Amino acid sequence: MECDLCKIRSSVGYCAECHILLCEECTIRCDGCGKTVCPEHVSRTSTLRSLCAACTAEREAALQLQARSTRRRRAEAEAAGSASADQTPNTKEPMPPPFARPRPWQVSLFYTGLGAVFTEMLFFFPGLQRFPLPGGGFLRTPFVVMCVPLLGIAWALAGIARRKRDANQLWCFLSLGVAVVCMALAFLALRFPR
Ligand SMILES: [Zn+2]
Ligand SMILES: [Zn+2]
Ligand SMILES: [Zn+2]
Repeated sequence: MECDLCKIRSSVGYCAECHILLCEECTIRCDGCGKTVCPEHVSRTSTLRSLCAACTAEREAALQLQARSTRRRRAEAEAAGSASADQTPNTKEPMPPPFARPRPWQVSLFYTGLGAVFTEMLFFFPGLQRFPLPGGGFLRTPFVVMCVPLLGIAWALAGIARRKRDANQLWCFLSLGVAVVCMALAFLALRFPR
């Protein structure tokens, strides 16, 4: 019987998948189980191993399992990491802050800084003082800008009010001062538009 593939040489075996007859040259041996297969029923792995269909399926399942367990291990490590991160501040501070993860002085500084940037922009770019509205009127942007340092003032006062826990009075007062200056400047921009 001749080989079904090359039709030249005589066959010595057959493909385990499709059962066509194969000669010595056209036969490929599975590196996994040792079965003979035809070129059509072999897959090459990234490491250039030849595998039959059954061994390929087995290998893919194993890879998926491995990927899943890696993902699970990573998720567990992350959960453990965040849990220990949560515990660290608690062990250092016997009294955790009741309502603020970022402290009031930090929030205050943030708004004050933002307010300072906005106020500065009003002065450097006077065109920003009026924002055209779709109705034809103008929005006086200093009004909006003033709200930002106002938030800074509110948070600074909150920080000062709970000074026993915050212990960052200096920053609160500093933020308060800068915020008041920003408000004054925004107010000036309102009174004397350029
Ligand atoms: Zn052949
Ligand atoms: Zn085959
Ligand atoms: Zn195999």
